[in-house]
Amino acid sequence: MADDKKLTKRSEDFSAWYNEVVLKAELADYSPVRGCMVIRPRGYGIWERMQHQLDTMFKETGHENAYFPLFIPESFMKKEAEHVEGFAPETAVVTHGGGKKLEEPLIVRPTSETIIYAMYAKWVQSYRDLPILINQWANVVRWEMRTRLFLRTLEFLWQEGHTAHATHEEAGEEARRMLGVYRDFMEGYMAMPVVTGVKTDAERFAGALQTYSCEAMMQDNKALQSGTSHDLGQNFAKAFDLRFQTEAGGIEFAWNTSWGVSTRLIGGLVMTHGDDNGLRVPPLLAPIEIVIVPIWRSEEDKGRVKAAAHLIKESLLSWERRIPGRLRVHVDDRDGIKPGAKYFEWELRGIPLRLEIGPRDLDQNQAILVRRDTGVKRAVSLSSVGEDAADLLHLIQETMLIDARERREHNSIRGGITYARFREVMEGDGGFVYAGWCGDAKCEAAIKEETKATIRVLPDEEFRSAEPPKTCLKCGSASIAEALWAKAY
Ligand SMILES: [Zn+2]
Repeated sequence: MADDKKLTKRSEDFSAWYNEVVLKAELADYSPVRGCMVIRPRGYGIWERMQHQLDTMFKETGHENAYFPLFIPESFMKKEAEHVEGFAPETAVVTHGGGKKLEEPLIVRPTSETIIYAMYAKWVQSYRDLPILINQWANVVRWEMRTRLFLRTLEFLWQEGHTAHATHEEAGEEARRMLGVYRDFMEGYMAMPVVTGVKTDAERFAGALQTYSCEAMMQDNKALQSGTSHDLGQNFAKAFDLRFQTEAGGIEFAWNTSWGVSTRLIGGLVMTHGDDNGLRVPPLLAPIEIVIVPIWRSEEDKGRVKAAAHLIKESLLSWERRIPGRLRVHVDDRDGIKPGAKYFEWELRGIPLRLEIGPRDLDQNQAILVRRDTGVKRAVSLSSVGEDAADLLHLIQETMLIDARERREHNSIRGGITYARFREVMEGDGGFVYAGWCGDAKCEAAIKEETKATIRVLPDEEFRSAEPPKTCLKCGSASIAEALWAKAY
């Protein structure tokens, strides 16, 4: 194998490894426009599976899809003071159209709260018009200075849910519910464990009362904020005059939530599961779950082994498995490429299961199944190959989540860490550190300044330490909350 095909090892340079995997596994490519990327079919295939599953889960929780314009009048962005302050530095502005200067500049949406709540204000008169539960699949633009494929690009794809409710209680439940949907998706489908919790004031979304977040640990021990859900209170309703007549006959402002995940999740998937041989895709999100590689030496063997490979594909496709949908199978019967080179390619692309079949296997009515996650090989009878493959895929999916969770816990520190030790950890291998916080934004800012670590979330109860920390990591005053600290993408 040519050396230029080899990947940099994760332990040598994680960041270089990441870029190489994304490019060589053909997930995405750099574009002629600085900071923008092209999502290639192998990357888009994963996104489509993510989209499909999330969309199903949104609909199961009562949401509908709609579409709002890409352009937002500049005056809309200015209506919610915190919101404009948060997003102004990274907006793209259209000043001309059709060769003429526009009367009012248009913002290319960085997020759609403003235009969506302006529309809701038009649609809502009475409590009977609530709740509104709408999701949008769209692209957004944020003029970032430093970009990384999938993790931070000028334009990215995402979904943004926007809801309006009659009570704050209902909106709060909705924000929490969608955080739970994200967690179920990330753990159940991406095999990427997350810590959920609430953001501090310094880290919350511009214009929100509360921001809830899913934080995942990447293999370099940095956190990836992988999904957020916001309780917007009445901030946007007041800015856009989104009012309704209550059941009692009064007039009140509606309560809003918004929530989103993006193509950033693909970056999270790469950095959670990839290894030194390339990508590892959890079976539920793999556009191809099984690649069949027929092996032959003589022309005579070639014909019968290729035919067998296609018959096996047919038998796999007809297998009724427990989870919905047929097995997704590809036969790699290309001529002129050695089996070893094919294995290398499919490993790089992260296909969860490889089925090898040669003339001797065929004579014995068997094939070899090779797991991408562990590399373990197993001979299986051709009469039960569908069942065996489906079982293995199920096992791979579960194992990937367990392994990722073990890695996270192995790199998490809880209980009684001194600030000196904390600095050593953040200068060294990093990790998730659970420690006390006095609630003062000054301590939070000082730690960020000195170590680049931030409070990712004040974790939900199930993630908190059995023994709550007593003092603030930084100042030693009484702790008001346990905080999860980490460096982040
Ligand atoms: Zn403090």
